[in-house]
Amino acid sequence: MKFFEILQFPDERLRQKSVEVQKINDELKDYIEKLKLTLFDNKGCVGIAAPQTGVLKRIVIVDVTNHKKATNKNGLLVMINPIFISGTGVLLNREGCLSVPEYTGNVERKNVIKIKYTDISGTEKLLETGGFEAVVLQHEIDHLDGILFLDRISNTKRDLFSRKKY
Ligand SMILES: [Zn+2]
Repeated sequence: MKFFEILQFPDERLRQKSVEVQKINDELKDYIEKLKLTLFDNKGCVGIAAPQTGVLKRIVIVDVTNHKKATNKNGLLVMINPIFISGTGVLLNREGCLSVPEYTGNVERKNVIKIKYTDISGTEKLLETGGFEAVVLQHEIDHLDGILFLDRISNTKRDLFSRKKY
């Protein structure tokens, strides 16, 4: 069962800037729980951002625990108001997106990043991570600013691929 419909490119709502969460109340926790279930409901999927469900709030969920590309693993990460602090190095990775089911693409991201965020209990946290987990976090945080991985591809002829139909 799908908990939320995932907005599909070129839906305009995917292009909007999400707003900061002001208060972590029961309603928000309930939404985050459903967002989590939506992520887990999509097999092989490692991240989701609230705007993909039409909720324009700065929330992302990432979990790379079971992904073979992951080196750094911090389990299930629920990030409220994540802020990108710094990034170093470059990592090229083939990305896909629930909101762009037709394509995958090679995208350059930072290899090691530092992110500040608030967790579900309202505690401010700092996370440093690298590799695939860092890539997924950058992809999801981009969604909060209306950016899709498609925008990060400079040469679509070379780096954009039609997804194989399963
Ligand atoms: Zn995405």
